Amino acid sequence: MHAYWSKKPHDAIDEYIKHHTEPGDIVLDPFCGSGGTVLMALANGRKGMGIDLSPVAIFISRYYCIPPDLEEFKKAYNKLVTKVIPEITWLYETKCERCEGKTSIAYTVYSSVFRCKGCSNDIPLFDCITKEVINSTGRPKKIKICPVCLSKGHIQEISGRTHEKIDVLPVETSYICTNSCKPVRATRRYNDPDIKRQKYFHEYDLRKIQEVEEQDIPFWYPKNRMMNIPDGQRRWGVLWRAGTANFEYVSELFTKRNLWAISSLFNAAGSNDDLKWLVNSAIMALSKKAQHLKGGRGIYPWSLLYTPANEGKKCALIIIKYSF
Ligand SMILES: [Zn+2]
Ligand SMILES: [Zn+2]
Repeated sequence: MHAYWSKKPHDAIDEYIKHHTEPGDIVLDPFCGSGGTVLMALANGRKGMGIDLSPVAIFISRYYCIPPDLEEFKKAYNKLVTKVIPEITWLYETKCERCEGKTSIAYTVYSSVFRCKGCSNDIPLFDCITKEVINSTGRPKKIKICPVCLSKGHIQEISGRTHEKIDVLPVETSYICTNSCKPVRATRRYNDPDIKRQKYFHEYDLRKIQEVEEQDIPFWYPKNRMMNIPDGQRRWGVLWRAGTANFEYVSELFTKRNLWAISSLFNAAGSNDDLKWLVNSAIMALSKKAQHLKGGRGIYPWSLLYTPANEGKKCALIIIKYSF
């Protein structure tokens, strides 16, 4: 149930263990991360030992190697769901433009907005057209071009390297209507060609985000700076990687709505480690590192503590998928 974020293929580790050790041997991984090595050692009848500086890594490893009692887990999970459903429902509630009924946001795509140097319009990267061009070394490369400039016959590349980033805005929502609409899933955009869908995007989807933004999150979440650097000191990352660290607090890795949902889930999980582990498993997909890509979603590599600047950030509520 927990897809660890930098997991190496277990079957590759499996081969190493089988080749280099005998059953009953001790396999030590002093930088164990998700605990894949320890897990595969146990699966092959070896003794496993894992060490990691990260408390999260140890927490996850422990659960891989010593799974919880599933019956107890199920009971605790059902309790958790009952407790958080009213709040989570409120956080992601919107209105279906087809049946006028209440529906739930599945995800919201955020896009960087740049001021185009060709036409001076503020253009979301999400709206840019991808074009293949030949670069100076003769190789093909894909660039994003301004749709407004293109409509006037001019090709203007939009890029974070050459353009000023004005904002990051919600541009598309996907919602799930379980009333009677077919298909159940639908999307709408801030500039939707369907006027009714466009209206509902602004009146309900955006309004809900604003409503959440106007309130304080009523549950605990970490407010300390990255690496616990005290206020007044240079922020973490800048000293060694100038210009690359684009956030200062862990909470900045999430939209306020998703941060609210996660803190609500952790609060409801209380001191139950099984539930904390379950909530932890959803954190990456709920963060701004979740990318909206053509053909599916992706997670910006965990080793890179940046948030994506490409087409969009998909901030989904996926915890509801975790059911038994
Ligand atoms: Zn509907
Ligand atoms: Zn333009």
